[in-house]
Amino acid sequence: MLRAFRFGLIAIMALAVIWGIATLPGTMRVDAGSYHFAAGVPVAILLLLLLAVVVIVLINGLRALLRAPRHLADRRAAARRDTGEMAAVRALSALASGDTAAARGHAKTAQRHAPDSPISLYVAGEAARQAGDHAAADQHFATLAQHKHAGFLGWRGLVQHHASQNDAGSQSLAQAHVRLAAQAHPGSPWLRETRVRLATTRGDYAEAARLATTKTEIGALAVMASRQASDPTLAIDWAREAIRATPSLSASYLALAAAHQRAGFPRAWHQARARAALRAGWRAAPHPDIAKAFLQDIEAPLERARAAQTLAELNPKHPESEKLLAETARGARLEGEAQRHRAGADQAGTRFVCSQCQAETPEWRHDCPRCGVVGSLVWTGPADVTTPTPPFAPVVGASA
Ligand SMILES: [Zn+2]
Repeated sequence: MLRAFRFGLIAIMALAVIWGIATLPGTMRVDAGSYHFAAGVPVAILLLLLLAVVVIVLINGLRALLRAPRHLADRRAAARRDTGEMAAVRALSALASGDTAAARGHAKTAQRHAPDSPISLYVAGEAARQAGDHAAADQHFATLAQHKHAGFLGWRGLVQHHASQNDAGSQSLAQAHVRLAAQAHPGSPWLRETRVRLATTRGDYAEAARLATTKTEIGALAVMASRQASDPTLAIDWAREAIRATPSLSASYLALAAAHQRAGFPRAWHQARARAALRAGWRAAPHPDIAKAFLQDIEAPLERARAAQTLAELNPKHPESEKLLAETARGARLEGEAQRHRAGADQAGTRFVCSQCQAETPEWRHDCPRCGVVGSLVWTGPADVTTPTPPFAPVVGASA
């Protein structure tokens, strides 16, 4: 209703203006040299309006003509970019399928059409890396690392590329790149994990333990750092760190006992601390190695059986305690005593089992011999067999 009223009002005003112009009296004359032009005022105004429209159309046409080459170039560049992007996507797909040759072909197309695009650089670097062209991989990833928004992809490529080669030179290059990358991206969990893995690979367990984030990793790496430390005081500190991180890991207490035994003055005090560490270990995480260390200086079978009893009393009825008592009693020819503890010893641990892949190993080590996960080994008895995880469970970062 309001709209119809407004339209009517505008129409009336327009008609009034047109009628006003049409009824204007007089004549307009233009004299230019020998040319003369005369018309009534309404006709002259109409002609002037027409002239203005023609001038505006001409100016617009000229501008469009001037802009045409740039428009054409822009459209060509966009088409090139699209072709490059599509080739890069094809290269990514080929990389995922493991077809390195096809990936390199598509990556080259992507590079030709969109040489500065981060995705072109990434696929070119990754394809070169998978094909073993180290120089090309290095060059592409280094360029990508300088990219404002996609720099991390470049750093990740550089680190993975060098870390995957086993020679000392490549490993130290991976180390250098990971340090630079950490400066550029300090909060990256991937970088932290990679630094832990690199430090573990080169045997720098103290560095690895300092960078690790999970308790199980810290515990296992701290045990290794304690074993590795040349200074006994440092070895004691690392073993204590291991116990703090993983109180249920027998290797932590064994490391503390070993560190105290290595320490010199005052000898008696350190010996007492070593035995205290073994006793604490038996209470928290009994393992035959703790008993072995506890009884190592005792020769006489009867003495051994008696010492074993003091240890077993700290964790009574535990299968490991029962097994220890049965074994030492048998050694001392106390057959009745041995028989009494044999039944309870059935459930004692027999091997370390990886909590990730169920691989088994008789000796404790900081990483799983099969899947390489740090701190995953658990002392396990015959009844503790858990359901294995599917063999194809995705392990993030395992391929790096
Ligand atoms: Zn494993």
